Amino acid sequence: GRRLILIMGDQLSRDISSLRDARKTKDIILMAELYDEITSVKHHKKKIVFVLSAMRHFAKELKGAGYNVDYRKFDTKTGLKSFSDIIEDAVRQHEPDEIVLTAPSERRVLDEIEGWRDTLSLPIDVRTDDRFIASSDEFQAWVSNRKTLRMEYFYREMRKKTGLLMDGDEPEGGQWNYDKENRKAADRDLFMPKRFSVTPDAITKEVIELTEKYFSDHFGDVEPFQFAVTRKDALKALDYFIETALVSFGDFQDAMLTGERFLYHSVLSPYINVGLLSPMEVSKRAEKAYYDGSAPLNAVEGFIRQIIGWREYIRGVYWLADEGYTKQNFFNNSRKLPWFYWSGETDMRCIQEVVEQTREEAYAHHIQRLMVTGTFAMLAGVDPFEVHEWYLIVYADAFEWVEAPNVIGMSQYADGGALGSKPYAASGAYINRMSNYCKLCEYAVSKKTEKNACPFNSLYWDFLARNEKKLKGNPRLGQMYKTWEKMGANTKRAYRARAKAILKKLDSGARV
Ligand code: FAD
Ligand code: SF4
Repeated sequence: GRRLILIMGDQLSRDISSLRDARKTKDIILMAELYDEITSVKHHKKKIVFVLSAMRHFAKELKGAGYNVDYRKFDTKTGLKSFSDIIEDAVRQHEPDEIVLTAPSERRVLDEIEGWRDTLSLPIDVRTDDRFIASSDEFQAWVSNRKTLRMEYFYREMRKKTGLLMDGDEPEGGQWNYDKENRKAADRDLFMPKRFSVTPDAITKEVIELTEKYFSDHFGDVEPFQFAVTRKDALKALDYFIETALVSFGDFQDAMLTGERFLYHSVLSPYINVGLLSPMEVSKRAEKAYYDGSAPLNAVEGFIRQIIGWREYIRGVYWLADEGYTKQNFFNNSRKLPWFYWSGETDMRCIQEVVEQTREEAYAHHIQRLMVTGTFAMLAGVDPFEVHEWYLIVYADAFEWVEAPNVIGMSQYADGGALGSKPYAASGAYINRMSNYCKLCEYAVSKKTEKNACPFNSLYWDFLARNEKKLKGNPRLGQMYKTWEKMGANTKRAYRARAKAILKKLDSGARV
């Protein structure tokens, strides 16, 4: 019989399970640019261009290889807005005997598809997404054997499973993790790699026009657009990273430097997330660089850990949870997200830098997301759901399965510690140690409670004091609570008064 094979915007891999046995003569591959998906939140313009252009290129490649592709371009006139609309229309048109797809990455979409079993009287074959290294069942099995979840132990299983950086049963070099060597601040240096950049072709230009026409009110600059949108160019981006940046990835993984938006990061997450690159091939390339002697172990191990450790662990956590995941709010925070998360209009240099680069690039690296915009929102008591929506909107690599656990769990601690062992709370000293932002800031990082004191400093202690009941039992915060207790009553009062003044300003919309 004839199959209708549905491919989604983050399933752009030639060897994806839904395409594995596709027949060029008989089957129809359906791809659609859907209004409901593009506007489920008001995605960054660059993210829209990236996903739609990558979809169009992928469809072109499939057609070139001889497949029947029914590609529906974004069209406001048809009234077909959702996956359900489009599948009903395509079923009517092509009269397939079966619908085949690889499981979607997001729960909302999976629920929609499950509904088709009732509405369409057709068999629906939802296949496992085996681009991931651990299946959901494997993750479940791993979880069921332990009381608390910690990435590090899961990661070791993934090392053993993949054989990456393994010397028989032992980790290469004798240790599983070389993070101790990876906490260096960076200095500007003339030989820093420049960002890998692709010039938009005619297809991308058309999508840029479409985005400017229909989604001009979305956040973000659409140009210059530099992302790869084909597998061929994504492979070049991978080569470029391995050759120019991997060598220093470990040392400067946590560093931030004004004007240096990418440092030694790979900027590969958008490509891995939509399927242009596979996590295994990326990890293998990095491993090879170690065995070739072109990159040190601390860099290669650290990089591979992000991909086969963190990325897989995060996905496991997403599918373990239920649909209430993004509504968790351990601290009962209710503050609105400050407007400067969109405008960048703040005197806090760190936040200004991160928001501006986010607007221009749809990219920020991990420590910027975690320790600048993430930490500030948590310290200031912003509603975690609003924080979640911001992150889902503003980054080109943001898909709910990976964004939500990183934001709700890791960065906002809104899950009460299910994902990480302590909240990522820090005062300005952390940012000062890892960046040169503070040197350029209107605020003084060394001041604590004065009018020009860095807001992170008082908000940090206020956060700990405010949430003492919930956090005091956490062994990893014991030292901080001891320090707080030892402070004199006047110092404590001054910290809290300064924090109160900042929060009041935030609420009134005054410049902070
Ligand atoms: P590199 O630093 O070069 O790392 C290599 C790769 O490791 C990345 O490409 C990515 O595939 C993987 N990786 C690293 N850390 C993580 C992680 N914590 N979770 C999953 N994969 C990881 N990543 C997303 O892909 N989408 C998101 O929406 C997203 N939202 C985030 C929100 C917050 C608050 C935080 C703290 C992190 C978030 N991350 C997200 C994880 C991480 O910040 C990005 O994957 C990374 O910054 C992408 O840039 P890069 O490719 O240069 O990464
Ligand atoms: Fe950010 Fe404070 Fe440093 Fe300014 S002084 S850049 S607000 S950490």
